[in-house]
Amino acid sequence: MASLYLKNLSKTYPGRVTAVRDFSLEIKDQEFLILVGPSGCGKTTVLRMIAGLEEISSGELYIDDRLVNDVAAKDRDIAMVFQNYALYPHLSVHDNMAFGLKLRKIPKAEIRKNVQEAARILALEDLLKRKPRELSGGQRQRVALGRAIVRKPKVFLMDEPLSNLDAQLRAQMRIEIAKLHKNLQTTFVYVTHDQTEAMTMGTRIVVMKDGLIQQIDSPQSIYDHPVNMFVAGFLGSPGMNFLEVLIIEQNGCIFAKLADAQLPVPAAGGQKLKEQGYLGKEVVLGIRAEHLCGSGDLLDRHPECALRGRLEFTELRGAETYHYVKIAGREVVVRVSPEQRTETGQEVRVGFNMSKVHFFDQESEVSVS
Ligand code: ATP
Repeated sequence: MASLYLKNLSKTYPGRVTAVRDFSLEIKDQEFLILVGPSGCGKTTVLRMIAGLEEISSGELYIDDRLVNDVAAKDRDIAMVFQNYALYPHLSVHDNMAFGLKLRKIPKAEIRKNVQEAARILALEDLLKRKPRELSGGQRQRVALGRAIVRKPKVFLMDEPLSNLDAQLRAQMRIEIAKLHKNLQTTFVYVTHDQTEAMTMGTRIVVMKDGLIQQIDSPQSIYDHPVNMFVAGFLGSPGMNFLEVLIIEQNGCIFAKLADAQLPVPAAGGQKLKEQGYLGKEVVLGIRAEHLCGSGDLLDRHPECALRGRLEFTELRGAETYHYVKIAGREVVVRVSPEQRTETGQEVRVGFNMSKVHFFDQESEVSVS
């Protein structure tokens, strides 16, 4: 059991820019925390500082209220699982899992017991005699997890552990790791740049960009209330649509004007925009594909909440169909009903669920709604 407290952590690599800046975060005992962000944003650096594999340039790191900045990696009681598995090719599955314990001179009987237990949890019991080359990618990754489990660490750190697996295996292993977290009741910190992993696995997500924390919250809250355009565009597949609109007032109502159309902004949102001085100014309207439509009730009931565009491309994703529509020079992605058949190049109407729109400041890109 362990909680972590990262207090103003920064990391500057020799001779280069700072990779992580002023990173502050409390990770609760038994939490499954996800660090997500694009390549190079500093996720791995944060993980390696927690593990003790990277020196902390400034700030403090506490494990269970104990300052550990100067505690060696091997004494932190933390296990790390890497993207490339890092298994020993000449050792069997059993010996790969037992290796760390043997080094620590743990009694043989205890090693056997821990390996058996980990093999049971990870369904590796029938594979204990095999060598890594005789295993599938998913099985290798389970061995890498097993090697971490046998140590019974206080904290598990995982650095993109699924990125070498194909899509189907990744989906399976996502569930395996979530179950593992439930079984072990230990603190997990998991790094990924895959937004599906971020949205589905963790209890809380930390979104990072350029070494800085952008937002920390539950997956649903971040999805529903992104604090800026970066977060809105990064989480969700497809990412949020953005359109530049002019905010105007007519007869006491606020509208978002785009080309020759005017979308009515719901009263509360409109009031907020007005109070913040956005009347007569351009802002960025953000809306997710599932809050746009190409046909149906919303369009029939609210024809005023629609814009005209041209269908450029249709993407079939099995259960879902997306239309890529050009509206006033910008492409937006619309989730449409799978029955909707429209030829590419045709003019279409796109309905906006105005209760779901977000507004962002054009310059700062921060949410203003
Ligand atoms: P990815 O998803 O690609 O693994 P990341 O978000 O984990 O990326 P980091 O690996 O933490 O990012 O790297 C953050 C920044 O620090 C990058 O600009 C990277 O080039 C730089 N960096 C990482 N390790 C070192 C190092 N040992 N020496 C110098 N610069 C480094």
